[in-house]
Amino acid sequence: MHRGRTYDHESVQEFWQYRWNQEDVYELEDLEDPLYVLGMFPYTSGNLHMGHVRNYAITDAYARFKRMQGHEVLHPMGWDAFGLPAENAAHERATDPQSWTDSCIARMREEMETMGFGYDWSREITTSEPDYYRWNQQFFREFYKEGLVDYRGAEVNWCPDCETVLADAQVVDPPADVDLDPGTEGVCWRCDTPVETRELDQWFFTITDYAEELLTGLNDLDGWPDSVTEMQRNWIGKREGAQVAFEVGGYGPVEVFTARPETIHGATYLAVGPGHDLARELAGEDATVAEYVETDEERETAGIPTGRTATNPATGEEIPVYVAAYVLDDVGTGAVMGVPGHNERDHEFATAMDLPVRQVVEPASGSADLDREAYTGEGELLDSGAYTGRSTEAARSEIVDDLDAAEPDTQYRLRDWLISRQRYWGTPIPIVHCEECGPVLVPEDDLPIELPEFVQTRGNPLDEATDWTETTCPECGGPAERETDTMDTFVDSSWYFLRFLSPDREDVPFDPDLANELLPVDVYVGGKEHAVLHLLYIRFFARALADIGLLEHREPVDRLVNQGTVLHGGRKMSDTEGNAIAPHEYGAETTRLFVLSAAHPNRDFDWAAKDVGEAYDLQQGIYSLVYEYAEGIQLADRDGPAERYLDRELDRAVAAATEDYDSFRIHQAIDEIRRLTRLLGRYRAYDTPDAETYRAGLKTLLRLLAPVAPYLAEECWNMLQADRLIVETDWPTPASDIEAYDRERTLVTTVRDDVRDIVETAGIDDPERVELVVAPDWKYTAYETAREADEESIVSAVMSDETVRQHGEAAESYAQSLQREGLEPILSRATEQAELERASWLLEDEFDAAVEVREASDADDELAARAEPGRPAIYIS
Ligand SMILES: [Zn+2]
Ligand SMILES: [Zn+2]
Repeated sequence: MHRGRTYDHESVQEFWQYRWNQEDVYELEDLEDPLYVLGMFPYTSGNLHMGHVRNYAITDAYARFKRMQGHEVLHPMGWDAFGLPAENAAHERATDPQSWTDSCIARMREEMETMGFGYDWSREITTSEPDYYRWNQQFFREFYKEGLVDYRGAEVNWCPDCETVLADAQVVDPPADVDLDPGTEGVCWRCDTPVETRELDQWFFTITDYAEELLTGLNDLDGWPDSVTEMQRNWIGKREGAQVAFEVGGYGPVEVFTARPETIHGATYLAVGPGHDLARELAGEDATVAEYVETDEERETAGIPTGRTATNPATGEEIPVYVAAYVLDDVGTGAVMGVPGHNERDHEFATAMDLPVRQVVEPASGSADLDREAYTGEGELLDSGAYTGRSTEAARSEIVDDLDAAEPDTQYRLRDWLISRQRYWGTPIPIVHCEECGPVLVPEDDLPIELPEFVQTRGNPLDEATDWTETTCPECGGPAERETDTMDTFVDSSWYFLRFLSPDREDVPFDPDLANELLPVDVYVGGKEHAVLHLLYIRFFARALADIGLLEHREPVDRLVNQGTVLHGGRKMSDTEGNAIAPHEYGAETTRLFVLSAAHPNRDFDWAAKDVGEAYDLQQGIYSLVYEYAEGIQLADRDGPAERYLDRELDRAVAAATEDYDSFRIHQAIDEIRRLTRLLGRYRAYDTPDAETYRAGLKTLLRLLAPVAPYLAEECWNMLQADRLIVETDWPTPASDIEAYDRERTLVTTVRDDVRDIVETAGIDDPERVELVVAPDWKYTAYETAREADEESIVSAVMSDETVRQHGEAAESYAQSLQREGLEPILSRATEQAELERASWLLEDEFDAAVEVREASDADDELAARAEPGRPAIYIS
């Protein structure tokens, strides 16, 4: 292979891919105890976009790092291949979803290979293949038998012209010349007809059965970002309180849910949502109510009085009943008791409707101005009958216990998972509808129910496939029709990480022993937009699988890493924009290095050509160091301070980068690589390099680089004529104890900055000699004593030491200067001196001056007096 002076990953990628494949380096052989490292698999939407590149670059860097550390790593990839985009593309390009999806997979896989992602492709899975989705159907059966499936009416978008249901994404803004009726959400994406809503029978997974467990389980997810567990907590939305029955004249009891039953004496009205039975009944009698209830428009008033009254069960008082839009039909019971004094939304409503605001809670401190806003905190009850004077916390349960009309109740915001999609490109739901028997499960032996051939139609292609829909009832043998709904694609992605364990098994969805051994996934990396749906569904699925006896784990993911968004000009980089930016302009591997170096994985960052250029320069810098070495440079056999410094710095770089990779601070690991590259260049230019030290430096550099730029690292490793492939090389370990490496680095940085300052401030053109004087022993003793002492007694503690006290006034004033909080740990005097001696060549090189490091006893008194631990005195002549 011919090598040029500049690095071009395209010219080497094929060769290294071939070698990697030939040696099966990414294939997991030993399933004994591997680390399971997983990036969220992509939708097959066309091309990889920047979000994918970042996601998989992070995951791949971690997998490579762990593999070099000696772990067996399971790092698979597959395709989330069902879904609407393929159907849309099929329409736009007059093809079919299968062909479109196949072409996307081919393209995306090639892009992944170009990026150098190291996957175990022997485990590749595609969710649109019958040998995958038959298990969705099997799970549906099992869930159905377990009581986790429900069939009931739900509202859907309906195009009256296409006579089909539309997904939310297929309801689009109208063309400029079409005025929509108020209340209409949009038009059909295909025919521009205004969309209506309809109620249809739909299939649900009853995830709400697990609401409480999904909530409490969050407390144990220590490896998940707090932001995600908090979003799930809010999404599940548990509220504890009570249901209270208010008797409405001429109707009967109306149940309200309240989280604050103790404020019942402050209820001044009762409100029901427009969909409540009471509202519907009243609409039949009262035209104004009817108009309010039935309108699709933005309502002009917050609510309307109904003329009815309700009896407050705590006070016996009659209060007015309203129909109010702010009361949501599917939250709680669809009815509330209005306590404007102590609930914000009730306050807003009462103000709008001119209803009385009654104070029944006195804040523990300060006062409440209820004319302005509701007081929603705790306090002492006022004007609350027998409960007056009780604390709100205590009275909350007492009132519920005492009142016959009240029952303790818990409500969740979480809704059941509607899995029905009236689409073609998804898993057929394994149900047939029989006129005699109703919905009947398809027997296991008849699975998989494969999709019929795709036809272009305005509606659901499954409805057109009469050969496919017409069937016989498995129960009575009579005529029946197949269910034409397919499953939400989130079903496919809810268990794919299990299929990777045994992708070829035809008898089971996954090998249960392997699953019990390998789960939970050790590290799962993906975008933060998946905080609720996908990441909640996998938790639900694991529990449901556990309850049907297929899995012993109930939590599927141990550690979750959320990567931030790649922005361009402040906007999210979508596929098309990503391509417009030409991410490969500097080469795919530069892109990869750039997305990793730009920011901490969990942060958003803006795509900037300048920063991409820096990543490119780093690559070239590393390549030319190694290239030049491989071409043959003059080398020496030396063991001076510079060599000792370099050895030490290699250890420090390894220690720092290891910590960084372990905690996903990949951008900082790249900073280490950058820093080491500069140092090696400097060392090379300083003097004829010591052969052993320089080679060790280059080898360490390449091993730190291998997780983030595998082609470059492999190519350079090969130039060094090192053993094996770098992907299979061991991760370096520091040769010496590096506990205090950051202190050593700080010392050197401080001294170099100080010298620069002095040279500049004093206007020294050409310094001849730099003298560094290390502080005397007693100052280290004083410093350590001060660190141990209480802040108030620092001076006396320091001065109580005989070896310090004997330095009189100097000791006293140094002790004074230490009188502050949080003294940083320091190096010992001997370590400090050794480090300065090792680092002196850097100053010599930078200022072209002789550098001398002295002990205080060998130095000028005035200079010695100025020296402090961590801050040697500096003299420049
Ligand atoms: Zn239409
Ligand atoms: Zn039947």
